[in-house]
This record gives sequence, C-alpha cells and structure tokens, in this order.
Amino acid sequence: MQPEILTNFVGGRWIPSSATEFLDVHNPAHGTVIARTPLSTAHDVDAAVAAASKAFAGWSETPPVVRARTMFTFKALLEDHFDELARLVTTEHGKTLDESRGSVRRGIECVEVACGGPSLLMGYGLENVAAGIDCSVMKQPIGVCAAISPFNFPAMVPLWFLPFAVVCGNTFVLKPSEQVPLSQKRMFELLERCDLPPGVVNLVNGGREVVEAICDHPGIKAVSFVGSTPVARAVYQRAAHAGKRVQALGGAKNFIVVMPDADFDRGIPTIAESFYGCAGERCLAGSVLLPVGDAHRHARDRLIDAAAAMRVGDGLEPGVTMGPVISAKHRERVLSYVERGVSEGARLALDGRATHVQDRPDGFFVGPSVFDQVSPTMAIGREEIFGPVASVCPVKDLGEAFQVMEAHPNANATSIFTSSGRTAREFSHRATASMVGVNIGVAAPMAYFPFGGARDSFFGDLKAHGRDAFEFYTDKKVTISRWY
Ligand code: NAD
Repeated sequence: MQPEILTNFVGGRWIPSSATEFLDVHNPAHGTVIARTPLSTAHDVDAAVAAASKAFAGWSETPPVVRARTMFTFKALLEDHFDELARLVTTEHGKTLDESRGSVRRGIECVEVACGGPSLLMGYGLENVAAGIDCSVMKQPIGVCAAISPFNFPAMVPLWFLPFAVVCGNTFVLKPSEQVPLSQKRMFELLERCDLPPGVVNLVNGGREVVEAICDHPGIKAVSFVGSTPVARAVYQRAAHAGKRVQALGGAKNFIVVMPDADFDRGIPTIAESFYGCAGERCLAGSVLLPVGDAHRHARDRLIDAAAAMRVGDGLEPGVTMGPVISAKHRERVLSYVERGVSEGARLALDGRATHVQDRPDGFFVGPSVFDQVSPTMAIGREEIFGPVASVCPVKDLGEAFQVMEAHPNANATSIFTSSGRTAREFSHRATASMVGVNIGVAAPMAYFPFGGARDSFFGDLKAHGRDAFEFYTDKKVTISRWY
C-alpha cells in the first residue's frame, strides 16, 4: 500500500497542497515510510492566510468566554485520545511511549491554561488620572498569527502557541515539522470538532518555502518559531524586517554542574535521564557534565553505569528506555560527532556506535555514549549534537564552571546538583540560562510559566506560554475618557 500523501487544513476543510515535491515520513524504529509530507508553496500559505484573515473579523468579536469554551472541548478531546496521540508521537518520532505521554500531557496543560483566557485577558484601569478623567487598558487580539515547529516534540510544541493565540481572539496558521506531521494532522481532526468557525485554525504542511512565505506575508501579524539557532535567527530577522512581532526559540548546549556535596544516589539517575531521555533530542537535554573537583570520578563512573544500563529499542515496546533518533541522516550526524570527539582527543568511556536492536535492523538506533576529559573548545563540547552523547568536562571550582557556561553562545537551560542551599542560590542567581534546575536534570517548561532561552537560544522578548503568551498575542488599547 502506498503511504498516505498528507493534505492541508484551510478554511475548515482538508485540501490538497499545490506541492510538486514530497518528503517521506519514517517510523524511526522500523525505518519504514509511513506517510508523505507535501512541501507546500507560498500559494498554499496565501490560501491559509486568506481563510484566517476572513475568520478574524468574527472570531475577534466572539466573547472570550465562548472562545475559551472551544478550548475546554479541545482539552476533553485530547484526554479522550491521549493514548492514541502518545502512540502517534512515538510512531513518527521514536521516543518511548512514556516520554510521548509526558509530552502530550505537557501540551494539554497549555490548553488548560488557555481555558483561563477570560481571566488572563483582563485589562486594568485607573480613575482620575486627572480630575474627572479615567484611563483604561484593554487587551485586543492582533490578527493572523503563525507558528513553525521543530521535529522533536510533534504534539507538544504547537500547543505552546495555538491555544493561547486562539483564546486571545486571533486566527492561526501552523506549519508542523515536515519530519513529524502526523500528530498535528490528528490534532487538527480533533480541532474540527471544537466548534471553531472555518479559518480560525489552519495547517500548512511543508518546509523552507512555507516558512519564508510566513515570514514575508503581509497578512500575518505575529510569528512563533521553535528550532535550531541558525534558522531561529534567520526567521527572527526576516519576519521582524517584514514588521511582525516575533518570538524565535533556538538551539541549545546545556551544562550540568555536579558539586562534590551532591546526593549522587538520587542525582545520577536524573542526570542520566537528562542526557539520554528522548535519545538526547531535547532542547533541554543535558549535553556537557561539569563535575567540580572531587565530584569528577564518582559522577563520571556512575553516569557511565547508568548509560550502559539503558535499554535501546522500539519506543512502543515495554521496558525500552531509549528509542531511535529521528532519521538515518541524523544518526550519521550523531555518529560523526563521536568520531570527531575521538579524533580531537577526548576519551570515549562508553561507545554507543555499534548498537543494534533485534528485530529492528532498519531502525535509526544509536546507543548512549560518554566522553571523558572533554575540553569546552572541542566540537563535542561546543556544538549541539542533539543525540545520546554525554561530554564530561571536569572543572576545578564553581567559578570555572561559570566561565565555561558563559563562554558558550547558547543559554537555554542549566542545572546544578548540590546539597548546599547557598551554592544553589548563587548558581540560580548568576546563571544566564533562562531555565535553571536545582537537583533537577531537565528544568522543563511549565504551561503557566513563560518558557524560552537567552542569548543565542532565543530571539525576541516575550516568551512562550504562561502570562507572556497573553501579552504576545494581544495589543494594549488605552482609552482616556472624560464625560461632561
Ligand atoms: P530546524 O531548525 O531544522 O527546523 C525547525 C523548523 O524550521 C522546521 O519546521 C523546518 O521546516 C524549518 N526549517 C528548517 N530549515 C529551514 C531553513 N533553512 N529556512 C526556513 N525554515 C527552515 O530544527 P529541527 O531539526 O526540526 O529541531 C531541532 C532543533 O530545534 C534543535 O536545535 C533544538 O535545540 C531546537 N529546539 C529548541 C527548542 C526550544 O524551546 N528552544 C525546543 C525544541 C527544539
């Protein structure tokens, strides 16, 4: 049977893309083709923006409580289809079923926060700014908004944006990652059942041409992007140049500091999960371990033990703790970093290159690797690998750990493991990464707090979800009145 060719969702209908090129979507555990993504054109973006613009007039005037009700329905449908969605995420991305469940749960939490739209959209005011004159602020929707997603969280990342944009009274165009479009296809089928007028939510499948058309389109007022740093920077510049509001979340190289006074029994499993969870394909994954002084030998050896105990396989199989990476090409990229680490003189203490999974000979598997004696100037200590490779870079004290972290252009997340409140407080205060974990391996985004990195991990000002989302998706109208 031929794999399904996906369509776009525009103006409330599923319609074929005008694409002439298509990309194969794989099940990474099997290496088989499960669908084909049309690489849609600027013409398809025009059609989606036209539908969204037409819907904006009515939707922006719809009472916030009615808009929120559609998100309550969406939340209920997501709960009803929770396991199905999690299985779909594992099927198209490869992460384990537990990891997929966690990501769908985090996404649903965004819908839950958006359900509070009527409260969170409230403005404010002051009587008598001058005698008999009152002043008030109202938050108004801005128009057609668009979001562009990466491959690593097919269900969750679009939910960082869509529910907030919609509840604020905007209309929306989503471009999922062309590598993992199936979770969003299913979510839009659920959105079809949420009483949203046609054109409020639209989906355009594709790659670079769609992204560039979104950045340039005069009908789009705001763009949210999540992906690698070079593309985030380019999207930020191009969309801002076209006069749009932009938030662009980029790549990462996350450092985890282990102090000699850390609780190793409880800390190391969390640290190992940070490095190897989702096969290292997380913007919040640990990438470089910075053990301080005497912590080095102990932290390294226990990380190696934990990594060696991971069970690599098909994420749908019970007992598997690490799935494949997204594609054959990405596996080659990860393996090339292991080669580079060896050639640059780091000590490969655990080698995951030869990992094979029984009954899945064509899956894109890479086992966990650990490098010791990594210098921050080596490629493996400097560049985002986005795979299951840990670099151990010993430092003499916390000051040196800060020097290493601050010399790196990315600043998405960082963590410290310590039993000293004073050290933890200093770390949290001084770190420039936006997400800081204290005895937490992955300082994960929480729907009701803002999320986004710093320096080359984020371009823009207002971050994703939390209260920032209600600022990003609205404009403030100030009215000053005097009545005679
Ligand atoms: P990517 O940058 O390759 O792609 C992201 C999106 O941009 C996709 O939709 C893709 O179609 C589009 N795109 C790719 N190349 C483009 C180009 N040249 N011009 C215009 N559009 C282009 O990222 P990815 O490989 O899908 O995802 C992994 C990256 O995303 C990692 O760097 C990871 O750290 C980052 N990420 C960051 C966060 C965060 O919150 N900061 C979250 C998840 C992933």
